[in-house]
Amino acid sequence: MARINPGFTKALKRFGAFDVNACYNCGNCTAVCSLSDENNSFPRKMVRLSVLGLEGELKNSLEPWLCYYCGECSTTCPRQAEPGELMMSLRRWLTAQYDWTGLSGLFYRSLTAVITAFILLATGVLWFASAQNFNPDRLLHTGHYFEMLAIAGVFVFILLPNIIRMWMLTVYSRHEKIPVKKYFKTFGELFVHMFTQKRTLGCDKSKTRWTEHLILVFSYLSLLFTTVFLDWFGTNSKSIIALGYIESAAIFIVTILFIVARMKKSTEVSKHSHPSDWMFVVWLSLLGATAFVVRLFIDLDMLENNIWIYIVHLIILVQWALIIVPFGKWTHFLYRSFAMWFLKVAE
Ligand code: SF4
Ligand code: SF4
Repeated sequence: MARINPGFTKALKRFGAFDVNACYNCGNCTAVCSLSDENNSFPRKMVRLSVLGLEGELKNSLEPWLCYYCGECSTTCPRQAEPGELMMSLRRWLTAQYDWTGLSGLFYRSLTAVITAFILLATGVLWFASAQNFNPDRLLHTGHYFEMLAIAGVFVFILLPNIIRMWMLTVYSRHEKIPVKKYFKTFGELFVHMFTQKRTLGCDKSKTRWTEHLILVFSYLSLLFTTVFLDWFGTNSKSIIALGYIESAAIFIVTILFIVARMKKSTEVSKHSHPSDWMFVVWLSLLGATAFVVRLFIDLDMLENNIWIYIVHLIILVQWALIIVPFGKWTHFLYRSFAMWFLKVAE
């Protein structure tokens, strides 16, 4: 028997949702959504399940990941129930359900917890830098190893177990036994959606948002590769240096466009910003900007006397890698891609 949580919509508000109880089930939102189909009839179904407090059904659902937040449904809703924002809030809530550490839910619900974690990490970096006598070589060396360890550690200990939990909730618990070969046959879906986010095109006629996201994904992933595997801050190769400059500048420019849109609230998608949305764009922007400046200081032979800029970069990097990537909005990129794959598997 399905379990009902009468306080669910109240709890969901802490993840960003608006007054979904205002919904009178007219169905306009589903009718207008270009990504909804007969098998996945959202957002109305998600609104209904939320209003009824059917937490278990929501936990088992992949539908919140199928929405790319164009906002059409919210514009059309006659009751201002903001179904688009509800889908976004459900994605945040699901992220918290998948996370075995419980930190994701805590950080989504409490800004104080996020700020405290950020301050603790910044203090840790400053303490470490002073213990190293602010020696530039040692700090650059440690920063490089930190990136490698953080990527491996976060993936193995946080993201991988969370993806397994997501699979158990959305595929394993809901479907008949699925042959293993089906997982292999459909595996490509994961990468196609991860790198191209092609589903966005279904609700982005101008392709502007899709293009910005594509540039951001490629710049981010290639900068990661350039700094971690090609040692951007330590190399003398002109082509690698130039590549890093282009990638970090691209990240900075695209994220600034996102920040401006959020400030102006010019589109439906940027109208409602949860603190996690701000943190994602601001930290990514700072990451691009500080990486660019650090490499510039190295090239101008100025880093030795201005090691503070690298320490600032390291603080942002540590906060990004240990808070935003494993527990914040970054995970949406990962879970969405896996949701597309799981959907194909379960079809
Ligand atoms: S359009 Fe608004 S009122 Fe109608 S079903 Fe969707 S959320 Fe409910
Ligand atoms: S925001 Fe767009 S994609 Fe998401 S449910 Fe609403 S209409 Fe569909």
